[in-house]
Amino acid sequence: MLYTSTRNNTLRVEASEAITRGISEDGGLFVPVEIPQLSLQDLQEMIPMSYIERAKKVLSLYLTDFTPEEIDSCVSGAYAEGKFDSDKVAPLVTLDEKAEVLELFRGPTCAFKDMALQLLPYLLTTAAKKAAPDKQIVILVATSGDTGKAALEGFKDVPGTRILVFYPRDGVSPMQKLQMVTQEGANVGVCAIEGNFDDAQSGVKKIFTDQTVGAKLAENGLMFSSANSINWGRLVPQIVYYCSAYADMLEKGKVAPGEAMNVVVPTGNFGNILAAYYAKLMGVPVGKLICASNANNVLTDFLTTGTYDRNRTFYTTMSPSMDILISSNLERLLFHLSGEDDAAVRDWMGKLAETGVYTVSDEVFAQIKEHFAAGCADDETVSGVIRKTYEEDGYLSDTHTGVAITVYRDYCAATGDGTPTVIAATASPYKFSKSVLTAVLGETPDLDEFDMAGALSDRTGVKIPAPLSNLKDKTVRFTTTCAADDMEQQVYDMLGI
Ligand SMILES: *Cc1c(COP(=O)(O)O)cnc(C)c1O
Repeated sequence: MLYTSTRNNTLRVEASEAITRGISEDGGLFVPVEIPQLSLQDLQEMIPMSYIERAKKVLSLYLTDFTPEEIDSCVSGAYAEGKFDSDKVAPLVTLDEKAEVLELFRGPTCAFKDMALQLLPYLLTTAAKKAAPDKQIVILVATSGDTGKAALEGFKDVPGTRILVFYPRDGVSPMQKLQMVTQEGANVGVCAIEGNFDDAQSGVKKIFTDQTVGAKLAENGLMFSSANSINWGRLVPQIVYYCSAYADMLEKGKVAPGEAMNVVVPTGNFGNILAAYYAKLMGVPVGKLICASNANNVLTDFLTTGTYDRNRTFYTTMSPSMDILISSNLERLLFHLSGEDDAAVRDWMGKLAETGVYTVSDEVFAQIKEHFAAGCADDETVSGVIRKTYEEDGYLSDTHTGVAITVYRDYCAATGDGTPTVIAATASPYKFSKSVLTAVLGETPDLDEFDMAGALSDRTGVKIPAPLSNLKDKTVRFTTTCAADDMEQQVYDMLGI
C-alpha cells in the first residue's frame, strides 16, 4: 500500500513517510493510492472482536510497512484498558428506533480527538524510527481548545517526543484552559499567546517552515512533526470506528447483513466525515453521509451547490470546534471524486487561496450529491433540540452533537428517509456545561464552571467524567503568556536550546 499526494499524483511514499512528514512538499495531502477492501464477511467477523482487535484489522490494511508486532503494540498502547471509560472504546447508544449515537468522547480528554490522538504518538514514533532514526520529534500545536489538550494527553511522556502547545489567551473555554495548564508529563510545554487562534496558527506555521529554526533543531538532534488533522496518521484511526460501528449495528440487529446505514457527522475540518467516506469506499455499507454544520455553513452550501465560498461572516458559536471556514480535509475528497485529477485539485485550491471561491465540475458535483447530504443549524435551534432530545429521548448531548441531531431530524423530515442511522457524538456535554445547562433549563444560572457542571449532573443524573471533575484538584503548571512575535523564542526556551 503506497500513498500519493493530492497535488502530485505521480508521487509514491510509504505510510511511515506520509505520517512522519505530515504534509507533502507540494503542499498536497497524502492519500492512499488504492483503497483496501473489507467484505461483508470481514465485517461480520469483527462482531465478537474487541475494539483493539478491530483496529488492528483495519490498520494493517493501510500501514503495510509496519510489522504486525508494531501495529499490535501501537493499538494496544493507545486503547489499553482504563484509557477509555467504556470497554467498547466507541460504544453505540440508542437514541430512538432508527438512530444510534456513536460515542467518540469516552477518552482521557472527553472529546473525539482522543480517538486519533491517543494512537498518533505511537504511529508517529514507530514511523519516525523507519523514516528518521536518531531524531527526537517535536510536536508544535496551535489550538482553539480540544486538539491541544488531546495532543498533550496523547504525547505526554512518550519517549523520543516533546510537545509544545500554543493557545489564544482569550479564545478557549475556562474548562479547556484548565485542562491544558494543569497538563502533567515531563516532555510537555504550554503557552498562552496574546492574540486569537489565527495568530497562534500563523505563528506555528511560520516556525514550522522557517529553515533557520529547522537547522537549529537539527543541530540539537530534534525535528518538527505535525499532529494536526491533515496528517494521515490522524485520519486512519478514525476509519476504524465506522467499521466498528457497522459491526455493532449488526450485533444489535439494527441492520441486516449488507443493509446500509446512514452516518451523520458534526463537521469542522472535514476529517471525521471523510473517515466515514473512506469506510464506505472500503465496502462498509454506508448510505448517505450527512454533513452537519453550525452557523458557519460553508460546507452545507458547497455540498448542495458545488461552489465553495469562504467569503462570508465568521460566527463564534456554542460549538466552537466547528467554527471554521476552510475545511482542509475536503481536498482529499475532491482528489478521489475527480478521479485523482491533481491538476484540478491544484486549480481549485489555488482559487481558494487567491479569491476564496471555487466551483467543482458537474461530474464531481454529481458524485457529491450521490454520497452526501448536508444541513446546518444555528445556536438557538440546536439549544431547543438539546433540550427536547434530553426530555423526549433521555439523551443528553453536547453542543456539537446537538448540531448533528438537529440536522438529522431536519433531514428525516425533509426526505422521509428511514435508513438506520449512526450519529457521531464528538464531545462530553460537560466540556460545554454552560451551553448545555442553559439549553436544558432554558436559562443561564449565575454559577462558575464547576458548579454549572454540578448543576447539570444534579438535574440530569448524567455523571461528570472523572478527567473533568478531577481538574478541580490539579496544580496549575503553566502560566506563561507571550506576544505572537515571541513564539519562536518560547519554543527555544521550552526546549532548552
Ligand atoms: C474537532 C471537533 C469537531 C470537528 O471535527 P472535524 O474532523 O474537524 O470535522 C466536531 N466536534 C468536536 C467536539 C470537535 O472537537
